[in-house]
Amino acid sequence: MPCDARILSTPDRLVERILWSSVGDVRSRAIDDALFDWPAPDPALKASRCRHCGAHAFPAMESCRNCGGTEVEAVELPRRGTLWTWTVQRFLPKPPYRSLQTETTFEPFGVGHVELPGTLRIETRLLEQDPARLRIGAPVELAFYTQYVETDGTEVVNYAFRMA
Ligand SMILES: [Zn+2]
Repeated sequence: MPCDARILSTPDRLVERILWSSVGDVRSRAIDDALFDWPAPDPALKASRCRHCGAHAFPAMESCRNCGGTEVEAVELPRRGTLWTWTVQRFLPKPPYRSLQTETTFEPFGVGHVELPGTLRIETRLLEQDPARLRIGAPVELAFYTQYVETDGTEVVNYAFRMA
């Protein structure tokens, strides 16, 4: 789409502005507003932290699994961490799982547990198609991808981690 914008906009700045604003209007939303804000300038995963014992929870919880405390605060999780363990998802998960893939287009993908420093480990999809690159302890960073597209064209965005 940026290519079309350049072609059409050269003689007319106004056209360029209109076109770029329409590119920005591609509608997208978080798969779950509780997990992260989207769109956002610098999105991060939303967790909770217990004010009593310091334990983190993701997704955020209203009370602490560790000590039962009910004083929890909202925190953002670090965007970088290390791969703690991983496996490869070799078949299309069953509904309600939705994705852009079908039984015929499915490609295996990595699923891992990522250690986020000073907070906790979370389960996550890995954006790495080559399992040979996955290794325990590897640095990874937060990323976002389109999980599926709704019938009205809205892109539904999910989080993942990729090799840093
Ligand atoms: Zn606690």
